Amino acid sequence: MAELVKGKDVAAKIREEISAELEQLKNKTGKVPGLAVVLVGEDPASQTYVNNKEKTSKKLGFHSEVHRLPESISQEELLKLVDQLNNDDNIHGILVQLPLPDHIEDEAVIHAISAEKDVDGFHPVNVGNLMIGEKSYIPCTPHGVIKMIEYTGFDLKGKNAVVVGRSNIVGKPVALLLLQRHATVTICHSKTQDLPGVCSSADVLVVAAGQPEMVKGDWIKPGAVVIDVGIHRIDDKLKGDVEFESAEKVASYISPVPGGVGPMTITMLMVNTLEAFKHLNGLD
Ligand code: NDP
Repeated sequence: MAELVKGKDVAAKIREEISAELEQLKNKTGKVPGLAVVLVGEDPASQTYVNNKEKTSKKLGFHSEVHRLPESISQEELLKLVDQLNNDDNIHGILVQLPLPDHIEDEAVIHAISAEKDVDGFHPVNVGNLMIGEKSYIPCTPHGVIKMIEYTGFDLKGKNAVVVGRSNIVGKPVALLLLQRHATVTICHSKTQDLPGVCSSADVLVVAAGQPEMVKGDWIKPGAVVIDVGIHRIDDKLKGDVEFESAEKVASYISPVPGGVGPMTITMLMVNTLEAFKHLNGLD
């Protein structure tokens, strides 16, 4: 039976490190990192994510601001707020919760956030820096996935890593991070032929396909490390993209859903905000 890679445990360890560093920085500068989250509209899932971000940043002692805006806000007004936050010395990280309403272009807003305050890591400057291996803000979920693999002690160097999914926010950045750690990386998507066959070559399998329980136990190489990014509510239960019951019999490590990648995302947002604070205060 596979050992569980619990995001909650990994996140707790990282949050302890954040608290210790924050205390030192506070003593040194008399300031704390500030995170501004912008929420447009009333989407219930987005409201939950934003509330959790606010709760976590306050708990860790960050300065936290949430700007809740009506669905009807114009793109121009939203960009004005972003500009204001870009120029606010108490704010080091800015996150605009996606998706935005249809009349607002996601890209226009993401591009307007100062790359130095882009703690989501979605600005093209940060995406480009990640691509060429320069210092950048790493998108939170992919960064969390890597921290979970590292937590198992698994050495990625020279190993076969397969990523199922090629989205800009999960699949592609996960693949780049695995490559940076010297894994041999294969990226799969909806047009991949023989997906079970490709998955079964993986020493590390990261699944971010958005398809409930798609990856079965018999697709998994015995002893593989499996990280399941997917999250779906089915019959009032949360399920991942991996069929957990069959997969846990084959893998050496597997992340559960819930309690897997989920808790890592907010923690890595706090890591990025701390990094932004240090950078903007010349302490990095
Ligand atoms: P997207 O829908 O943006 O991307 C899904 C990717 O999976 C696409 O590249 C798609 O291929 C590929 N795919 C879809 N179906 C198949 C298939 N049958 N076989 C092979 N590949 C397939 O999703 P996201 O990357 O945003 O998210 C993926 C999952 O992770 C979702 O369940 C989401 O809810 C979850 N998630 C969880 C987070 C967390 O904090 N735990 C954070 C972010 C996401 P193609 O490009 O060809 O269409």
